[in-house]
Formats: sequence, structure tokens, C-alpha cells
Amino acid sequence: MLVVMEAGARPEQIDAVVRHIEKMGLKAHTIPGASRTAIGITGSSGTKDPGIVENFPGVKEVIQVSHSYKLVSREAKPDDTIVSVGGVDVGGKGVVVVGGPCAVETLDQTRTIAEGIRRGGGQLFRGGAYKPRTSPYSFQGLGEKGLEILAKVREEFDLPIVTEAIDEESLRLVDQYADCIQIGARNMQNYSLLKVAGRARKPVLLKRGMSATLEELLLSGEYIMSEGNYNVIFCERGVRTFADHTRNTVDLSVVPAIKRISHLPILVDPSHGTGKRNKVVPMSRAAIAVGADGVLVEVHHKPEEALSDGPQAILPETFAQLVTQVGAIAEVLDRTLQPALATAR
Ligand code: PEP
Ligand code: MN
Repeated sequence: MLVVMEAGARPEQIDAVVRHIEKMGLKAHTIPGASRTAIGITGSSGTKDPGIVENFPGVKEVIQVSHSYKLVSREAKPDDTIVSVGGVDVGGKGVVVVGGPCAVETLDQTRTIAEGIRRGGGQLFRGGAYKPRTSPYSFQGLGEKGLEILAKVREEFDLPIVTEAIDEESLRLVDQYADCIQIGARNMQNYSLLKVAGRARKPVLLKRGMSATLEELLLSGEYIMSEGNYNVIFCERGVRTFADHTRNTVDLSVVPAIKRISHLPILVDPSHGTGKRNKVVPMSRAAIAVGADGVLVEVHHKPEEALSDGPQAILPETFAQLVTQVGAIAEVLDRTLQPALATAR
């Protein structure tokens, strides 16, 4: 159920509705929008009808939401959500480029790549400290030491950090060190982890599972929002198909499909999406053309020596070209590249 307040509803009127909903043992999610505030109601009310608030002052209407997702939907919030990742806006008119290695390997490697991302015009830095690898014998990431490296690199290059959490313990640490918590494809349906992410302070970048439907992705976002974290960014990273010319198939049509239903931003990751370096730039261009709010790509200065995902890593020079081309396509759509944080130095 969704309570839509009048455009001019006063804060005390919103408070009165929230208090009443909470008194019924339900959870009230206040969602301010550009033109009006909505209050999403979740939880089970038993025999009591929260629809009673329809008669409260300042309430415009109470809508029964027919889908199982509510808070992620445009019914709850018609205008686009803008999520601030360490001061860089994701969503809205701006387009962002997130770049960095698959894994944080050493301080030197991370610094060198971050320097390339900054110089190339990227606004956010990515790099895994906790790596969910298919083989238990592959490099598993540096753990907390990797997070310390990422924090140093943020200070040096003014690049907010996106990094993956794979379980509750790593999520707590990522929430402390980073600017955005990535939940990977393999964990998109790890509902207990999603609930923990929903109680974290930092925004969450939620990657689509490799065989997840649109509705499953939306519901995973709903898990995070229902716990009170409204800063969710979706990420399409390719799904499994019969195609064998790529690692996965980037499902670009999911971008306009999500945009139609949800107010949350969505990025595309053509690196995991294709698994092939030579397809990353063209698919990045296509992602912006279909309306993505940005791309997330893997970059390495020595891809042949990378400890993970070398074949899909582009060079820093290629990254700079990617940013220029993505910016040009954004302009056709009346959007612009989001500015990077101003360097303090
Ligand atoms: C990653 O971003 O490094 C990663 C492991 O991605 P995914 O979860 O999409 O496979
Ligand atoms: Mn990777």
C-alpha cells in the first residue's frame, strides 16, 4: 500500500500518517519526490486496515500496489532517484563512468590504475578486495588490506570507491571503508545479505544475477529498500545464454525496461557482460544510447599480468577514449558526463 500526500502536505501531516502506520505494527517508508511525498507501507497488518489514513489531513490518495515490489517502483516515486556516491551523483541527467581493476592486487597497481581513471575522466573507482571466484584456488582478494589500499587511493585521487562485499563480515568493513557497497551477481539472491545491506549507511550497487529476471532484480532491490536503505543502484552485467562468442550476453533492453518501472538508477557493466576487451568500448557506447546512467568497466595497465579477469580489462588509454565517446553520446540524449570531484590538491 502506498499513501500519496498532497503536493503541499506539511511535515507534521506526514509525521501523523507515519506514526499511525507504525502504531499498527507496520513499517512506514517516507519517500520524498520532486512533486509530492509518498509513504510506502510494508509488513503485515493482520486484520487492521492501514487504508484508514486516507482520511488524514494532507493525504491525497491511498493506492493498492499490485506488484510485489513497491518502494523501487515509480508508483512510489515518479521522478528519477539520484544516489550520491561519495559526492558524485549517480542518476538524473548526469552519466558516470566507474573504472578500475577487477581485483586490488598491490598498492602500486591500484595507484597506477587510479591515476589512469582520474586522468581519463572517470568519476568513480572500482576494485575488488573480496573476490567471489569460481575456483577456490583462484586469487580471493586481499581482504581488509585491499580496503586500506582503496581508502588511500581515494585520498590521493579524490575518487570515491565502489567495492564488493561477499558476506556479512566483509559488508560491515566495506561500509566503513568505501563509498558504495557492491553486491555481486552471485549474491543477488542472498536475501540475508541484502537485508544487512539494507541496514548499511552507504549506497548499494546491486548487480543482476546471471539468470535473474527483471522482477527478481527489482525484488532484490526491494529487499534493500525495505530495510531502510533507499540508495540503490542497479547494474546489468550480462546474463547466461547459448552465445559462445562472449562470456555473457549483455541484456541492454533491461535498461529501458527498468527505467519504465523503477525510479532507481541503472549502470551497465560491459566487462563482465562480454568478457572480451575488444567489446567493452562499443557496448559502453550502446549502454548510454539505451539510457543507462553510466557504465562500470574493468581497467588494468598490465592486463596480461592481472590476477583476475585480465582478458576483459581495457588499458587506461582506451578508458580515456571510452569516456570521451560516452560523453558525446550522452549529449545526443541531452545528458552530460557527471563532473569528477574537484581535486583538493
Ligand atoms: C566484479 O564486478 O568484479 C564481479 C565479480 O562482478 P559480477 O558479480 O557481475 O560477476
Ligand atoms: Mn571482474
